[in-house]
Amino acid sequence: MATVPAYAAPAAKAPLERTTIERRPVGEFDVLIDIKFAGICHSDIHQARDGWGEGIFPMVPGHEIAGIVTEVGSGVTKFAVGDRVGVGCMVDSCRTCENCLAGLEQYCLAGNIPTYNGRDKNGDPTYGGYSTHIVVDEKYTVRIPDGLSLDIAAPLLCAGITTYSPLRHWNVGPGKKVAVLGMGGLGHMGVKIAHALGAEVTVLSQSLRKKDDGLRLGADHYYATSDPKTFEELRGTFDVILSTVSAPLNLDAYLALLRTDGAFVNVGAPEDPVSVNLFSVIGGRKTLAGSGIGGIRETQEMLEFCAEHGLGAEIELIEASQINEAYERVLDSDVRYRFVIDTATI
Ligand code: NAP
Ligand code: ZN
Ligand code: ZN
Repeated sequence: MATVPAYAAPAAKAPLERTTIERRPVGEFDVLIDIKFAGICHSDIHQARDGWGEGIFPMVPGHEIAGIVTEVGSGVTKFAVGDRVGVGCMVDSCRTCENCLAGLEQYCLAGNIPTYNGRDKNGDPTYGGYSTHIVVDEKYTVRIPDGLSLDIAAPLLCAGITTYSPLRHWNVGPGKKVAVLGMGGLGHMGVKIAHALGAEVTVLSQSLRKKDDGLRLGADHYYATSDPKTFEELRGTFDVILSTVSAPLNLDAYLALLRTDGAFVNVGAPEDPVSVNLFSVIGGRKTLAGSGIGGIRETQEMLEFCAEHGLGAEIELIEASQINEAYERVLDSDVRYRFVIDTATI
């Protein structure tokens, strides 16, 4: 066991504070990672405030981890000391169910083991990336390509894969019109990736405050959802709407913006349920769908794609002491576009 510094929420809704945690010894198939950067995902805030319920406290959030391997177990074959690596939202799964075998470990039928706010196979709580070190099985660790610097790569481990996976699954590419709803951490990566895939990209944001950024990041069009005219003008327009919104939405209004056979794909995880009028999907044979992160193989593929297209996150690098302030800014939709913690300041 090794004692390492970390930032933790001691209880639900309590501000995060510096503490120490224990990391397990490096096992046969484990790598020890010296964490350099950890992104702040809105999911960290939902969970640190126990908005999804059943949180395990104290909680060390962080599932956008980028760092360097400093030790490997005797059976490790994928990585060597010095490698640049990342860890996303899960650190293990059953490895034997049909989803695990298909590379869809995020949908493991036994439940994947989340990087934090979960329980390891031995029952110990898992602790995430707001820390200086982590020990992870090599199978759930990915390689960060040389072309990507670690700070802008860290957010790809959640925001990148959570947008890449559904954009690929719903065949977003040339000739397709896609709307990205919400331009925060996930949304801005959705815009970059959808543009790189060759689609015509529209941002649907609450206001036009971030329009210049949206167009710079690859959007072709940018509309404010606070303007009722947006919903008249864009009726029946999109093949795919990717919603990254962290709060409940009027789904019926957005389903009306799809073309026949279009799909509304939700990745946002609001704390309260939403209702939908099923006539909104009957007319136009529409799909209301969801998607969760991505499998390990696809996460590696996404990193290669981002390196090839020169895509990293737009980040604000912060010190660990600014985490609580950063949380407030994320809650105010005032993030541009991902806070990343320099873990040397923990
Ligand atoms: P974020 O940076 O806070 O971005 C969310 C964006 O949603 C905001 O920037 C804002 O965009 C928009 N928004 C916020 N409140 C809104 C409201 N009341 N009405 C309409 N729009 C609103 O958060 P994130 O880190 O991208 O995460 C987004 C959501 O995805 C969270 O719920 C998170 O837990 C979830 N998530 C899910 C997965 C998954 O696997 N499915 C993975 C990661 C995260 P504008 O300012 O442009 O309007
Ligand atoms: Zn996340
Ligand atoms: Zn499984």
